[in-house]
Amino acid sequence: MEKTQAKKRIEQLKKSINHYRYAYHVLDKSLISDEALDSLKKELFDLEQQFPDLVTSDSPTQRIGGKPLKEFKKVHHEAPMISFNDAFSREDMRAWLTRLENYLGRPLRYTDKTFYCELKIDGLAIEFIYENSVLVQCSTRGNGFIGEDITQNIKTVEAVPLRLKETDKKYKLPSRLIVRGEVFLSKKEFERINKEQEAKGAKVYANPRNIAAGSVRQLDPKVIASRKLDSFQYDIIGDLGQQYHENEHEALKSFGCKINPHNKAVASLEDIFEFHDYWAKNREELDYEIDGIVVIINDNREYKEGGVIGKAPRAGIAFKFSPREATTIIEGIKLQIGRTGVLTPVAELRSVEVGGITISHATLHNYDEIQRLGLKIGDTVVVSRAGDVIPQVTKVLKELRTGKEKDFKMPSVCSVDGSKVIKDGVAYRCSNKNCGARQREYLYHFVSKGAFDIDGMGPKIIDRFLDEGLIGDAADIFSLKEGDIKLLERFGEKSAENIVEEIQLKKKILLPRFIYSLGIIHVGEETAILLSDRLQKEKGKVSAPAEVWNFLNHISINELQEIPDVGPKVAVSIYNYFHDTRHHDLINKFNKAGILLEMPPKIKNEKLKNKIFVLTGSLKSMSRSDAKEKIRLLGGEATESVSKKTSYVVAGSDPGSKLAQANKLGVKVIGEKDFIKLLD
Ligand SMILES: [Zn+2]
Repeated sequence: MEKTQAKKRIEQLKKSINHYRYAYHVLDKSLISDEALDSLKKELFDLEQQFPDLVTSDSPTQRIGGKPLKEFKKVHHEAPMISFNDAFSREDMRAWLTRLENYLGRPLRYTDKTFYCELKIDGLAIEFIYENSVLVQCSTRGNGFIGEDITQNIKTVEAVPLRLKETDKKYKLPSRLIVRGEVFLSKKEFERINKEQEAKGAKVYANPRNIAAGSVRQLDPKVIASRKLDSFQYDIIGDLGQQYHENEHEALKSFGCKINPHNKAVASLEDIFEFHDYWAKNREELDYEIDGIVVIINDNREYKEGGVIGKAPRAGIAFKFSPREATTIIEGIKLQIGRTGVLTPVAELRSVEVGGITISHATLHNYDEIQRLGLKIGDTVVVSRAGDVIPQVTKVLKELRTGKEKDFKMPSVCSVDGSKVIKDGVAYRCSNKNCGARQREYLYHFVSKGAFDIDGMGPKIIDRFLDEGLIGDAADIFSLKEGDIKLLERFGEKSAENIVEEIQLKKKILLPRFIYSLGIIHVGEETAILLSDRLQKEKGKVSAPAEVWNFLNHISINELQEIPDVGPKVAVSIYNYFHDTRHHDLINKFNKAGILLEMPPKIKNEKLKNKIFVLTGSLKSMSRSDAKEKIRLLGGEATESVSKKTSYVVAGSDPGSKLAQANKLGVKVIGEKDFIKLLD
């Protein structure tokens, strides 16, 4: 993105994020999910990384969160309670480590305990102060510098020790100890409280954190006592001589604090990924909500050396689980035709990760849905994915428009066959009843053995891709992404990967196979070879599909009939195909997709020049297609039907009606032995 464009986008993002935060924190209205909001913040963060001079102090990436409420006494934190920047992918994590090492000016001191990984609990960060081992003050994070004194409320949380003790000689309890940790609500408690609320006809909470946040700020401590909050401690402010962050957890445990048993020190980024992925898969087994992991440089000296940038330490990061919602941009809308001719609009998205996989398509259901959403091409939208289904566009963020967005209109004619499009209830359909079914037949042909030969992509899978809107035409096959395929049931990670690999591999195709793949009426494998030969004779080598179009678009019906095996009917069919703009569009799409044409092997010599063969029956020494290939390599031609132009009919065992035809026309008939002699 250019800088002026980035600047505009940054301004819009800041406004939009502030709007949603204000609604959430002040008006108590959730207009957008936390995940979608995170996605916007991430986009802002990335743009600011790219253009650091565009970072302003009022950017949402520079602040920590909620203002202190008036009702509670203010507490100045001795050390600011900062929070971590977020990473959402392995690339983000690698970028984080690179930034840190660049800042340090050297690689980290790698050991088997380089990083400390903790579960990131979706609760509230709290500071606990102990004096002479007694809990004297608890406060919220507030804006990071000033929080609220909620000591009385936190004292009702049983997991928080009111008095600390020394149990391990290694860790001496200082007279004043500042501890930080998380207060949260278990899933079980969350359900219990919501059931109670429902029975009372009172407000039902959206998530456990909302209840925890509401509870610790209750002015009546009895209310909080009735809600069984839980807590883990994870940080010590100040120096107990601990060399590693890990030691702080040990020390806290020895003092009687509750620490999370799943946290662990690891050696490398790979280990971090493993820890992250394990908990992303197994988070449901925990009785509390986690939304990612926190990764901290374990060595406290290195951690300190990293310092703070904006609101966050350089040497720590929150590696979030992949959200089930994200924001992205609608790059286009294409129509998918169903078997019965119904046209379904499908959004083409700027690739985005949702629920752990990268997707580039989302269904829009029907035209009414596009209007209901008020969606335009170019819009920033929220996409969400529930379970293993194709993602949906759930919201348009209209405030992020630039004015360049385009309306989508249903076309008046079908893009597949040019028939009129008619409205039928909420649906639009092609007026040709057979259009959808025919297109399917064509795509089955396109990936079949004689054509692109895409292994593993049978009719069932083609149907699936069409039904889900992943492909609209043959060229779309080449832009399928692993994530798109993975979405579909029955597709394990492996087979999605295999199919994408196979498709990429098959982008190189022999010219005659490519011509055959186009599904031109009356053009079988033989005729495709003859067309290919003609093209090759005229043009030499061609490599791009557009060159095929240019040649066949300029050839007359008469010229086509000079090609052996091409009668008037076939010539007209070829001519019509290459004079239809819809086919021109398709061939241009093949070009863009990077289809690369290869020439069939060179002709060895011209021993069989001007000799036309017809094969009938089966040969003992070679397959029929091998025989045709051999004829071709010697400059001869193999055709399907016997005519006066035919030089030889080769009769194998069980010859068919072609033999009778040859006898009738007086064409020379030879057996396998004589045929082999001709080839020598
Ligand atoms: Zn149609």
